[in-house]
Amino acid sequence: MHRDPVFDLIGIGFGPSNLALAVRLAEEAGVHNLAHCFIERQAEFGWHRGMLLDDCRMQISFLKDLVTLRDPKSRFTFINYLFERGRLADFVNLKSFYPTRVEFHDYLSWVASSFDDRVNYGQTVIGIEAVKGGDNASGVEALRVFSRDAEGHEWQRVTRALSVGVGGGAQIPEAFAALGSHNIVHSSQYLTSIDRVAGPANGQRKRIAVIGAGQSAAEVFADLTRRYPHVDASLVIRSSALKPADDSPFVNEIFNPAFTDIVFAQPRDGRRSLIERFRDTNYAVVDRPLIEQIYEMLYLQNVSSEPRHRLLANTAIETAARTASGQIELTLRDRLNGRARSEQFDALVLATGYRRDTHLDLLNDLAPHLGDAPEQGNVERDYRLTTPENFKPRIYLQGCCEDSHGLSDTLLSVLALRSDEIVASLASQSSLERSGNRTAETRDDTAKAGSMAFAL
Ligand SMILES: Cc1cc2nc3c(=O)[nH]c(=O)nc-3n(C[C@H](O)[C@H](O)[C@H](O)COP(=O)(O)OP(=O)(O)OC[C@H]3O[C@@H](n4cnc5c(N)ncnc54)[C@H](O)[C@@H]3O)c2cc1C
Repeated sequence: MHRDPVFDLIGIGFGPSNLALAVRLAEEAGVHNLAHCFIERQAEFGWHRGMLLDDCRMQISFLKDLVTLRDPKSRFTFINYLFERGRLADFVNLKSFYPTRVEFHDYLSWVASSFDDRVNYGQTVIGIEAVKGGDNASGVEALRVFSRDAEGHEWQRVTRALSVGVGGGAQIPEAFAALGSHNIVHSSQYLTSIDRVAGPANGQRKRIAVIGAGQSAAEVFADLTRRYPHVDASLVIRSSALKPADDSPFVNEIFNPAFTDIVFAQPRDGRRSLIERFRDTNYAVVDRPLIEQIYEMLYLQNVSSEPRHRLLANTAIETAARTASGQIELTLRDRLNGRARSEQFDALVLATGYRRDTHLDLLNDLAPHLGDAPEQGNVERDYRLTTPENFKPRIYLQGCCEDSHGLSDTLLSVLALRSDEIVASLASQSSLERSGNRTAETRDDTAKAGSMAFAL
């Protein structure tokens, strides 16, 4: 009888979260026998490519790279990357902890290139099915992961554990979802779509509205004003002003890996209130230098010419509709005087944030076996989804545990330590350690990630 080889761990998505896990698994610590691979939708490694604007900087120190906080001597540190690229001395002269995102992307790609034989690029995971059997006839023994490549071929792999690191999905407010995607772009697709949307000048001005009050909204607005001389940009925000992100040192301690224990130890209400109290470190806030840059740009255009670009503060969008000519008409209400007016735009950029529930779609077919765990957000301290006793596979969730593990969960701050915690949890499973030895016998033929899968 044909039996599928079984992985000890499959990582879904190969962004920074699972990349940090790959680094940790590559270290010698008694876990290097785990048969594992990753499945990534993009054709090659990419970190928020749609927002890889030339002049944008990291919002955390480079010392919070994939590994330094756990092991500063690792070969995968940002400092070693600089050294190997021949830029370490020059970087020191910059006197900055905050490289550009373009450089950090290059660092992440440099790390990722060490794991090319582990990653199945260009495949999207489309479903996960329970595998019953073994000694656990009434329960679930393993998981079958289905993915589809760009040519439409389906693949399946069986695993005893999953690390779900699929990041966020574009958050599209209801008012805009109904309008379809023509000339409406989410910020995550900004660089790949804006040329098409802004179009060539053709002697005509274009009016583009950016919706949102966070870092991405401000970055897109500033970029539009520089990139296209024929575009008049409006930044529409509900609040009264662009507000700076609080990155002062005492507040910043909430992003220390140790703070995860403090959040997790709270009862549900306590966790929520901690997150609310520190929301202005991450949501609907903008780095102060960018606020100052935008303020100066708006001021200078008032000095020199007719104002083209606008910050529409205190502005609520009440309705959005398509006009007969394909433009987008917004009903805008001034939240101070209560007056409403209509304005038409040629295009919108929605910098309206990210949903953190896309893992639920992936786990949907497992729902009958999971009880109410996913909906309840029941996640253990080691990021493992709480499952019934007869459900043997372990499902680790990365980047969607903000409610239980705190604000750093969606960011880079805890990656070095979180990957360590997940690997420790995997290693603590004696059954996995045993199976690690068993699968190691077939690992040589199967280490190439593609060769272990079976096309349907
Ligand atoms: C523009 C921008 C700038 C940011 N800057 C910072 C910063 O400076 N500092 C910071 O701490 N955080 C920053 N963040 C937060 C960001 O969430 C983290 O930096 C980081 O990307 C989280 O890594 P991740 O692997 O969890 O998610 P992601 O980086 O989103 O990676 C998820 C991966 O999963 C893949 N994927 C999704 N679904 C599937 C599927 N079904 N099958 C296969 N693959 C799939 C995606 O293609 C993607 O590669 C930024 C976010 C954005 C949007």
